[in-house]
Amino acid sequence: MYEIEEFVNKGYCSKADVEKAFQAHQSYIASIRSDQREAAAAEMPGFGYYEPFQLSATDDELFKQPPPNADCPLCSIPLPLFSENALARRYQSCCGQIICGGCMWPVEYPLYGSGAPVPCPSCNTLNSEDEKEIVKGLMKRADEKDVYAMTLLGTRFAEGSVVPKSMHRAIEIWEEAAELGGILACNTLGNIYKPGSLNDIDDTGIDKDWKKACRYYAKAAKGNHDLARYNLGVLENNHGSKIKAMKHMLIGAASGHDDALTLVKQGLTDHRVTKEEYDNALRAYKESKKLMDNAQRDKPKAWMKRMNMMKVLSGGRRGPGTAGELLKEGRKIEQARKKRGNRRR
Ligand SMILES: [Zn+2]
Ligand SMILES: [Zn+2]
Repeated sequence: MYEIEEFVNKGYCSKADVEKAFQAHQSYIASIRSDQREAAAAEMPGFGYYEPFQLSATDDELFKQPPPNADCPLCSIPLPLFSENALARRYQSCCGQIICGGCMWPVEYPLYGSGAPVPCPSCNTLNSEDEKEIVKGLMKRADEKDVYAMTLLGTRFAEGSVVPKSMHRAIEIWEEAAELGGILACNTLGNIYKPGSLNDIDDTGIDKDWKKACRYYAKAAKGNHDLARYNLGVLENNHGSKIKAMKHMLIGAASGHDDALTLVKQGLTDHRVTKEEYDNALRAYKESKKLMDNAQRDKPKAWMKRMNMMKVLSGGRRGPGTAGELLKEGRKIEQARKKRGNRRR
């Protein structure tokens, strides 16, 4: 009924039209129903054809525009979105601060990939690039219930990096971090539980559960995790309500998420958003971008763009994931380019 009211309120059609369409849809579903199909659908939890989808219900808080991200402690402007690249926000396990890529760049760039420890711009601790030392730091902070450190430590267990590989332990840590309000952990759990998801992390043996996935994405989305909001919107679009999906995209776009804005634009052409909704979202999108961007943050962004371009030019293989790997890879690519340049001369 929520859906129908929305349609009617927006003046797309009359209530009678929607009811008629709904009845037609129900009888179509009944006409294609078969035991064999039911059985096949039951094999795919969360993706059955006959289950009425109730993804993110009417949750007033979920559909409110979340506040901007917390400020970077150094430049005092909101931290970049989670959908930005791996260099955009840098967690420091020495003091538990999350530093924006712009403030990290002047300290990190001259040292990148050299193996020399990088001083934390917040507390001046020299942080080793060695994975063993990084995991040690994460463990110490995870013991103090730092949710960001817990999330990163969980990933180490999922990947078996330094610590013994255990998806069970990883999920235990992520769930505890999520319980404590860690939105990064919530998004990770959403990715892990989402049926049919392709993760960087090997999640074989995990019982997929779309309800759990949606619950975690919703919790992350409320805390302005833009990727979780986008994922939830996509799930709604494919398996739930197209109207709620567009609401998520409007909120995501207003937070500054590029792909959400693209879908809102699409929504304008196929009449799923009004011109007024689109204009408001676009205005908010521009304001959010302006709030988060500065010249300093453009430097790592431009560098990443160049690195990605070179990766594409050199065969386009899948690139490294973590910031440390990226920086090392970047150094290799730049050295190779210099060598080629020298040979030509
Ligand atoms: Zn900063
Ligand atoms: Zn520090």
